[in-house]
Amino acid sequence: MEAASDSQISSLVDILKEVDPAFEMDKTQQKHLKNYPVLQKFLDTHSYRSHYMFCLKRCTSAECPVCSISIDTRVPSDLLEKLHYLPLPVPDEGDRIDHYKPFSELWGSTPTGKFRPSLGRHLDDDEIDKIPFTASGENCRGFVNCEVCKKPRCFFSKKKLTGEQNEEVRKQNEDVEFTCGAQLFYTDQRLVYMEIRITCESHVSSHYFHKRQAYP
Ligand SMILES: [Zn+2]
Ligand SMILES: [Zn+2]
Repeated sequence: MEAASDSQISSLVDILKEVDPAFEMDKTQQKHLKNYPVLQKFLDTHSYRSHYMFCLKRCTSAECPVCSISIDTRVPSDLLEKLHYLPLPVPDEGDRIDHYKPFSELWGSTPTGKFRPSLGRHLDDDEIDKIPFTASGENCRGFVNCEVCKKPRCFFSKKKLTGEQNEEVRKQNEDVEFTCGAQLFYTDQRLVYMEIRITCESHVSSHYFHKRQAYP
């Protein structure tokens, strides 16, 4: 993605000044937002913030001080009605308990960050998902990177992996979007285990450094 040019930034500032005449270019931090009541209210009522994304959606009200600016030159209002905030992952039920619900089922619902994989799990899930042996530097067999924070996370198995099994782990990592706190494999075919009581905020484990030292 390309950075905004100076002229793009200054035309945005012009629009922001039109919305909220108090707006100042050098006061654009979160703490300055209280100086701009119109913008603050706009963000409170037109945006959704989550760990993964920031969504902003125009409304169709002619009275809205922000969205009423050049309302007819952008998205038609009947199309706006059909646009929703992007949903966040929600676990499926029944036979598909190991999966997340399909996008089509969640589109249009209120997004919830409650089930984000990197948030860690409830106790019941922990029992199913925790490593059934003591994880250590010795049984760390390699690592995969989290799709969100990019930190390396060790995978563990009791026995050393064969070349074929290593290949299987590599393929699985290509197929799923691994994030901190989740397992790489579903319950019934677990070749290696990940630590689940971690989040993206957790430090890189000492097992990782042990592994790097042993096999530089
Ligand atoms: Zn609006
Ligand atoms: Zn992460």
